[in-house]
Amino acid sequence: TIDLTGKRVLITAAAQGIGRASAEAFVRAGASVLATDINAAGLQGLMDCDTARLDVLDTASVAEVCAAAGPVDILFNCAGIVHGGTVLECREEELDFAYDLNVKAMVRMVRAVLPGMLERKSGAILNMSSVASSVKGVPNRFVYSTTKAAVLGLTKAIAADYVADGIRCNAICPGTVQSPSLDERLAATGDYDAARAAFVARQPMGRIAEAEEVADLAVYLAGATYTTGQACCVDGGWTL
Ligand code: NAD
Repeated sequence: TIDLTGKRVLITAAAQGIGRASAEAFVRAGASVLATDINAAGLQGLMDCDTARLDVLDTASVAEVCAAAGPVDILFNCAGIVHGGTVLECREEELDFAYDLNVKAMVRMVRAVLPGMLERKSGAILNMSSVASSVKGVPNRFVYSTTKAAVLGLTKAIAADYVADGIRCNAICPGTVQSPSLDERLAATGDYDAARAAFVARQPMGRIAEAEEVADLAVYLAGATYTTGQACCVDGGWTL
């Protein structure tokens, strides 16, 4: 088991879904967790976590919350948004917004937290990507996959720059995971049951992941002291 006793974790998008499950998994692993989200009300009820409202699009707010967090040992950049559609269907504003939230926000967070990690010669950064990225072509996910592929590039670049300084940086690539936003996407198709059946059918294990199964990987990577620069898939065999 991974023991993160004495470690400080800062996590974005912790109000629901994978972020919330991860905040609780880090607490169970012994860490001290600062759980943040743009939706402050959604952070209520998280067991044994410090909480703060944080909009990762707001550079000033990122700097403020990261400074108040105290020395951060583990940063989990979980915030991200899914856009549907093909290259011909995406609007340029959607591409800009997704790039800002899914990629540039991670850069903001890393720039706020990494200097302290370097002073202590120790730190682990986890970035939320997806198999819908450079790992796998997934239909109807053009904007999303573009940004999640960029997450893998930024992860490897950071890992390469700081590998000799005690810093590790890894990315998590889930397949399809049960979450509130997944349910919204399925409902938005107009036929929730059919859309869900199609998503289940493409998973070789015959089921969608639980957020806790992704959280387990986040905790593992936080303590995986010989692993850096990796795109770690947790996808029920989708890319096997
Ligand atoms: P979700 O989409 O249900 O919740 C997202 C959370 O992000 C919400 O709590 C929301 O308030 C928060 N958020 C939105 N904008 C924000 C901002 N500007 N600043 C801070 N927080 C903000 O949760 P999920 O489906 O578990 O997704 C979490 C991450 O996992 C995302 O990066 C997503 O791309 C990734 N992911 C999800 C799946 C999936 O199938 N659910 C698969 C692969 C990757």
